[in-house]
Amino acid sequence: MATQWTEKIQLEPTTTQKVELPELAYYRGRVVPYADARIGLLTHALNYGTAVFGGLRGHWNEEEQELFVFRPLDHFRRFLDSARLLRMDLGLSPSDLWAGLRSLLREQGTRTDCYIRALAFYGDETLGVRLHGLTPDVSIVALPFGHFVANDENAHACISSWQRISDNVLPARGKIAGGYVNSALAKSDAQLAGFDEALVLNDDGHVCEGSVENLFVVRGGAVVTPPVTQDILEGITRRSVMQMLRQDLGVEVVERPIDRTEVYLADEVFLTGTGVQIVAVTRVDNRAIGSGRMGDITGRLRPAMAAVVRGRDPKHRDWCAPVFREGATG
Ligand code: PMP
Repeated sequence: MATQWTEKIQLEPTTTQKVELPELAYYRGRVVPYADARIGLLTHALNYGTAVFGGLRGHWNEEEQELFVFRPLDHFRRFLDSARLLRMDLGLSPSDLWAGLRSLLREQGTRTDCYIRALAFYGDETLGVRLHGLTPDVSIVALPFGHFVANDENAHACISSWQRISDNVLPARGKIAGGYVNSALAKSDAQLAGFDEALVLNDDGHVCEGSVENLFVVRGGAVVTPPVTQDILEGITRRSVMQMLRQDLGVEVVERPIDRTEVYLADEVFLTGTGVQIVAVTRVDNRAIGSGRMGDITGRLRPAMAAVVRGRDPKHRDWCAPVFREGATG
């Protein structure tokens, strides 16, 4: 049953966010009606947060009448790494997961920008906090998806009073469902206090990332971002942006810890992520960043990224995996 999608919803990061449920899902190795993929109240992952997820995006290219998924194999590699942290052996390769996603998108007839949520979770209906002796399930759903952040050209962020989870507490390097309560605490408190986003400090007091984005600051012409040992998610957009800055824009990128006050004194601050793409942060804690308007590097990067993800930049065409035609695999 193929469903033709039209632009149905705009996801906004508000507390009243509504999502129109899809008709289909990839679940336990097959494409099934979404309504048939049910879990019970005692599901381990629901009770203890023992799930990992992946967030990918598909971008519709009107000229080519093609949907491009951005770096699916890299996303699924990280997904499998996250699963390994929870002792899950999914018995699937990144290519298997991409094949499953592709069959879902094809059967669904997804011909619009979309957000893709892959989930691996302990589906056992059982009690007992542990990670062994349990069986993981895998699901993937794809939702029509427009613009994620309303204020992506001049976001106002705060430094959160919530500290980032550290590697020896709950590894931020993996997309572990339970760990996202930390992001949710930071994000809600920021938004309910009138800010657009929260920046979180890690255990040693360095600014490490946003609630669901990686952080970059520009100081003296160089772009600085925390290394992966600073309790950050190893972002796919982060990695892509670092390569584009170095190779395409000829800008120096340095990976090192970032002090809180360096953020206040930065010329530019921007955040990167699959959902948000690239967000210009122009104020932090009611202090203007640089001129208080989106800076030069952020301003160049945003349209460059928008072209890349839609398959319009030949230099990075290999990051874009086509759904409907046969060919590159991401
Ligand atoms: N940090 C966190 C905590 C995130 O949840 C995300 C979103 N996945 C990111 C950074 C950005 O990662 P990516 O570019 O792979 O989406």
